[in-house]
Amino acid sequence: MPTIPTASVSPRILLSIDYEPWFAFIRRYDAITASQARQDLDGGYSRLAVDGILELLRDVKASFYLVGEIAEWYPEVPQKIVAAGHELGLHCQIHRPLLSVSELEKDIHASRSWREQFNVRGYRAPMVGISEDAYPLLRDAGLTYSSSIYARPGTLLQKGGIWELPVSTTRIFGQTEMSLVAPRDFSLSLLFNGEMPYGSSFTIGMMNDIVFRLLERDLKRGLSPVIILHPYELVRPQNFLSRTIPDLLRHPELLPFVFDKSKFLKKLLQRFPVAPLGVYLDEVLSLQEAAHA
Ligand SMILES: [Zn+2]
Repeated sequence: MPTIPTASVSPRILLSIDYEPWFAFIRRYDAITASQARQDLDGGYSRLAVDGILELLRDVKASFYLVGEIAEWYPEVPQKIVAAGHELGLHCQIHRPLLSVSELEKDIHASRSWREQFNVRGYRAPMVGISEDAYPLLRDAGLTYSSSIYARPGTLLQKGGIWELPVSTTRIFGQTEMSLVAPRDFSLSLLFNGEMPYGSSFTIGMMNDIVFRLLERDLKRGLSPVIILHPYELVRPQNFLSRTIPDLLRHPELLPFVFDKSKFLKKLLQRFPVAPLGVYLDEVLSLQEAAHA
């Protein structure tokens, strides 16, 4: 497995926030495509939540992978993120699965103006689902790295001219390493192969104490785990539970996404060093370059 030379890079938590409307995790709303209807449904949440999240983070910097429709509705959101010193990345333009390369191509094109305005270079695929064919598209769009598969911390891959810095997993049983070919999403095959995606906010919602211990363990090993949180897990949307209950009853697997994770984040910020993915990647690459010089 390609690994990062950990000895020379100081370990930290690579914190990412997939900045998306509160309803993005409920797949029922994927069918609504009109921007105005989606903005009405968001109801100003995405405009307000950013302040609360920036306040939670205080001086700590993180990566925000933004859903571009939010930049269209509220241009102040990406501005505030960048002004506070955080990294701004691309999640997608409109939130839905983007495994199809032609759909992804259209979506990437739609985000061009704000990506260029803010020099965006990082990408997180919706649902952490990407195909191998997507990487050259990302490269052609001027992006330099992606964090769109699940794999163990310390993994850094080169795919189609793009660096892939995966969201973290831990081995719970077995020894056989599954291939690192994309897609490598939160799937039953990953779990049956003995790998648990603990950097997923699903897992954080299910067992935040265990995730906390895994983070501590991996930092001690000199590794820098990548984790994902969402705005609605940190700043509560109005009537969140009553608006999501019909979906939760039909899809109980969505429940961990409605749990409040602000306490988890506060504890994390108190205990561990935290950095954006792009900053960490630059450090690793410059060390690799120096080693080969
Ligand atoms: Zn998402």
